[in-house]
Amino acid sequence: MEQVDAVVIGAGVVGLAVARALALAGREVLVLEAEGAIGTQASSRNSEVIHAGIYYPPGSLKARLCVRGKALLYDYLGERGVPHRRCGKLIVATQEEQVAALRALASRARANGVDDLQWLTRAQALQLEPALECHAALRSPSTGILDSHAFMLALQGDLEAAGGAVVLRASVEGGRAAPQGLVLRMADGLELAARCVVNAAGLRAPALAKRFEGIDPARVPQAACAKGSYFALGGRAPFSHLVYPVPEEGGLGVHLTLDLGGQARFGPDVQWVDDPQDLDVDPGRAAAFEAEVRRYWPGLPQGVLQPGYAGMRPKLRWPAGAVEADFLIQGPAEHGVPGLVQLLGIESPGLTSALAIGEEVLRALQG
Ligand SMILES: Cc1cc2nc3c(=O)[nH]c(=O)nc-3n(C[C@H](O)[C@H](O)[C@H](O)COP(=O)(O)OP(=O)(O)OC[C@H]3O[C@@H](n4cnc5c(N)ncnc54)[C@H](O)[C@@H]3O)c2cc1C
Repeated sequence: MEQVDAVVIGAGVVGLAVARALALAGREVLVLEAEGAIGTQASSRNSEVIHAGIYYPPGSLKARLCVRGKALLYDYLGERGVPHRRCGKLIVATQEEQVAALRALASRARANGVDDLQWLTRAQALQLEPALECHAALRSPSTGILDSHAFMLALQGDLEAAGGAVVLRASVEGGRAAPQGLVLRMADGLELAARCVVNAAGLRAPALAKRFEGIDPARVPQAACAKGSYFALGGRAPFSHLVYPVPEEGGLGVHLTLDLGGQARFGPDVQWVDDPQDLDVDPGRAAAFEAEVRRYWPGLPQGVLQPGYAGMRPKLRWPAGAVEADFLIQGPAEHGVPGLVQLLGIESPGLTSALAIGEEVLRALQG
């Protein structure tokens, strides 16, 4: 049986960032990816936003890893010349009743260590973005956008420069503990031994986690799919900041993001689905999108939204039905299997947090 030091399952942005961290720490790393290319799942179906760390409950992994990840990410993108822009964003209260929720967000952000937010009156917000409509807004100067694919290629480059490798079309089916670490069972029937294994399989991570002998399935929630669709704007948007409404249940609300070419897209909405492959955008949702967008951009012309793409949020649901609000990072200290780390429910802000998750996994394996 072939033996390696460390295996990361999944070559999304999180798997690649973890693999890079392990390789830079001197480990021999193999990334096993089921698909024929890196980053074809959630990592290429998102808003490409560098989040500031505003929304998440203080003390949560999301809050801590987003704030740390953002700082690491801006440094990394700068050093490696990966395209990105610190464009800033406005979170807008479009009704008087939402102003209190906006103030609550501002104090939550402060508790998370995000201390650069600016409170804007309607007049101040309209001075920045004349096409906007709102009662008040919060400006986040440290929010930005990046080219997520270029980021993943840079991570893969670092991994390979440190002696690691990505193996494509290599699907892991399960594993068991062995005297020297773990043994992985591959879809083609082969087995591979590794001293440590990180399950970064995204939406499929919970199902895979339960296929490791020694893992108590009751401590692993079910994957739940919250589809998010995007619509693209035909023509230019009259905004230079990203524009977000006050967040809604399960997502951040239908927001306006810009890509690095200045093209605007709206989304993602929240639609709970059973089929993880259900990634078609229903053109019939355009009317609901238009209504949402007009709350903050009344001048949106009729019929200019074109179906774009969709992504699947890897949510987690506990047997009693509750949706897990935080990332779950389960290492040997949590589940008792030496050398194994499971990354579950790595939804937004997973892209922003990826480099910090790499640090966290190193700690989990050392502790
Ligand atoms: C609609 C949407 C919008 C988002 N917007 C943002 C944003 O603006 N900013 C932000 O910070 N975050 C955002 N996120 C979150 C971010 O995209 C994810 O947190 C991140 O991409 C997760 O990366 P990952 O590597 O864990 O998962 P994935 O990218 O899903 O990668 C998992 C990989 O594992 C592979 N795999 C699965 N099973 C196996 C197996 N058995 N064997 C081998 N390989 C396997 C898959 O093929 C896949 O390549 C968004 C997410 C969504 C869905």
